[in-house]
Amino acid sequence: MTESARPGQSVREGLRSRRWLLWGALLLLVGLLLGVLVFLAGEYEEGRDQAALERDAALVVSDIRSGLVRNVQTLQSLHSVAPTADSWTAPAAELLAAHREIVRLEWRASGLDVLAERDTPFLASLSGYLGRDQSLHDVRQACDNARRLSGPAFSPSYFWPMSSGVGMELMEMCLPVTRNGRPDGFLVATYSLPGVLAELTNKDLLRGRGLAFSEPDGTRLALHSTVAVSGRTLHTSALLDLPGHTLMVRLESPRRALGLFPNVLTAVVGVLSLALLAVLALLGRDMRRRQRAELEVADALAFRKAMENSLVTGLRARDMQGRITYVNPAFCQMVGFSAEELIGTGLPAPWWPPELFDEYQRRQAVRLAGQTLPREGYESVFQRSDGTRFPVLIIEAPLIDAQGVQTGYMSAILDLTEQRRVEDLNRTSQDRLQATARLATVGEMASLLSHELNQPLAAISSYATGTLNLLAGPAGELPQADLQLAMRRIGEQAERAGRVIKSVADFVRRREQVREAVAPQSLLDAIAPLLGLQAKKLGIRVQIDLAPGLPLVQCDRTMVEQVLLNLARNGMQAMPEGDPPARSGQRVLTLAVRQSRLLAGASPGGRAQKAWVEFAVTDHGQGLSTDVQDKLFTPFFTTKAEGMGLGLSLCRTVIEQHGGALGFEPAQPRGTVFRFTLPVA
Ligand code: ADP
Repeated sequence: MTESARPGQSVREGLRSRRWLLWGALLLLVGLLLGVLVFLAGEYEEGRDQAALERDAALVVSDIRSGLVRNVQTLQSLHSVAPTADSWTAPAAELLAAHREIVRLEWRASGLDVLAERDTPFLASLSGYLGRDQSLHDVRQACDNARRLSGPAFSPSYFWPMSSGVGMELMEMCLPVTRNGRPDGFLVATYSLPGVLAELTNKDLLRGRGLAFSEPDGTRLALHSTVAVSGRTLHTSALLDLPGHTLMVRLESPRRALGLFPNVLTAVVGVLSLALLAVLALLGRDMRRRQRAELEVADALAFRKAMENSLVTGLRARDMQGRITYVNPAFCQMVGFSAEELIGTGLPAPWWPPELFDEYQRRQAVRLAGQTLPREGYESVFQRSDGTRFPVLIIEAPLIDAQGVQTGYMSAILDLTEQRRVEDLNRTSQDRLQATARLATVGEMASLLSHELNQPLAAISSYATGTLNLLAGPAGELPQADLQLAMRRIGEQAERAGRVIKSVADFVRRREQVREAVAPQSLLDAIAPLLGLQAKKLGIRVQIDLAPGLPLVQCDRTMVEQVLLNLARNGMQAMPEGDPPARSGQRVLTLAVRQSRLLAGASPGGRAQKAWVEFAVTDHGQGLSTDVQDKLFTPFFTTKAEGMGLGLSLCRTVIEQHGGALGFEPAQPRGTVFRFTLPVA
């Protein structure tokens, strides 16, 4: 058991650890997948935000560009009316007041000498710190470009420190102007880059965002606004391509990703992931239940298998075509074939005796034709693999599967060999009993007849002798009267003998079945005088040993008395004078009666449930030799010269007819005990 349990356990443990490994791997993969999903969702969201930002940056750039173009038109209007240096100033101031992004306007001659100029009213300290000639280089660069392009051109931006200690990034725009179709110098507008950002962009677009002009390396040149929150930001740059110079606009936006689930998509993915985890957990629980159920099924199967293996009844399953699908070990043992040899074999079955093939084949055909089988089964004869035959009882039932469809036949097979043996034994003992009973009756009749017929036969014989004597006399003087008398007497005696025979026959017939409740004591009392006489003659002491409180026994009083007498007489005859020696004090015949649960001579567990009274007759004679023991109950067996040899066989018949049993065993220290039992009334 333990040997077979240990490998099973280790296999189970192996399976369990592998299962945990698989579960671990699954959870890890699902976790990874979820992580990647959440990450990708975040990335996607971020990509969308980034794209929106880039779109907005393009919008900002186009806003600025169109603002600058508008400004060019506005600036051109300053020269549409051919101004003088004085008349130029007033509209220039007006223009500066309207356009905060322009911090200075200059009208320069073709040689770049300043004809008229005006500063923005919003910045007092613009020209206090450095002289205007510091920016002349930029102006010249812009105007060279403008001349070449015949249109507005910009200079690179430059930092302009101011007297207030701060400074700003400025950029020159040079616009060639004409008077009456001829070039008339340049209009130079100095743009403040922060001003451009503040004035030329859409405020709504920039809410919460950071906007700046920057160098390609990210250095901010001019800042309009910054992102309020610290932390990660999204940013994008767009090029503002101006004639003569290119600026880079940098737009920043705070990342909306705050917390674990920053937006709907990620939240949906998160919820789905949680649902997936929940489903996984449920699946796991379901799997555990399934495994438990599987283990239970395996246990039940093992139990069923053990049960089948320990059965003494043979089990056999056949499919609808008569092929064997299952046999249990008891069946294999019965027919002497192994399960491997049997399974799959069809008809004729290997255990069919060849001469009965036809009959069995017919039976099988009836069964396969779907006719109902007798519930109580039918008897048959099987042949073992070694050729010996044995009777069996087969009980068959249809085999129905889980869907309710018949898939074959299940048979239980009982080996009837032992049962048959017991039945035979019973029959022989019954026959023997009947024979003995007949013999007993014959013996009884014979002894009675011999006794009763003695007298009439003796009388007939003496009358016959007398008659012969009379007939022997002289022929002429026959005494007719005497002869007639003698003949009449012979006839009378013969009639009497006939009556005796009839009465004996009647008596014997009448004696059957006279049962009454008798006290054991009264049985012993009835034979005591006869026994006493015989014992006295042989010098034997008779000891009577009655247990107290004995119940009545159900019996034919005369018959049982006869049995007791017979056993006592045999016992006394077994102890002739001198054997055993008188001084040993063993010339005692004991008659003991006691109550018994056991039937004398029967094994315990047989008919022991009834209450019995046991009679025991013990002598201390020479005992029984095995030779004598064997023939003891054979009618007419005797070792005595005058014996009839009917005593013991008659005794046994009588006792068995009462339902009891008669047996014997050696007595201690020597001799024999004869015991018989009678049922309690
Ligand atoms: P019978 O007494 O007429 O010989 P039984 O049937 O009573 O016939 O006995 C058969 C034989 O069994 C006897 O001849 C005797 O040899 C033997 N026998 C019976 N009882 C005893 C006994 N108590 N001790 C020894 N032998 C016995």
